[in-house]
Amino acid sequence: MSTLLNPQDVKWIVLHCSASYYGDVATFNDWHEKKGWNGIGYHWVITSCYPTEDHYRNNQPDMAFDGVIHKGRSEQFRGAHVRGHNWQSIGVVLTGKKGTFSSKQLYSAAKLCTLISLRFPHIESVKGHYEFTDLKTCPDIDMDYFRKWIQPKGVLEGFTTPE
Ligand SMILES: [Zn+2]
Repeated sequence: MSTLLNPQDVKWIVLHCSASYYGDVATFNDWHEKKGWNGIGYHWVITSCYPTEDHYRNNQPDMAFDGVIHKGRSEQFRGAHVRGHNWQSIGVVLTGKKGTFSSKQLYSAAKLCTLISLRFPHIESVKGHYEFTDLKTCPDIDMDYFRKWIQPKGVLEGFTTPE
């Protein structure tokens, strides 16, 4: 049974990276199930051009996946991505590791974070996983730098996320 997430409790959007060169919702769902979790722990996934291990191993980048936002675990439920803070956060993961994120992925991340922040009344900010623990460098993006890209509402016209 998944635990419900109370929208009133949500204070942070937590940005992660997969620390892998490839991966889509099915990949992370699989990895997290193997950890004994209730499927994918992130609420949103922003894929790179390598959605699967085969795409990566065979050097077959698929541009149709680069920067695309996919729904992971439903926001109705508590995620599994940041120890001690899952009850008060939404988890977003960028497929990739240090130095590999595409500009499309970063634009999508900034827009997605903006949209999420408009939907929860008590959101304070977007944080990187490393800002919650000294044991992580995830998402390997300087968050003070990233937060400058969080878009003002006007830029979001016509921008939607999958249902
Ligand atoms: Zn993380």
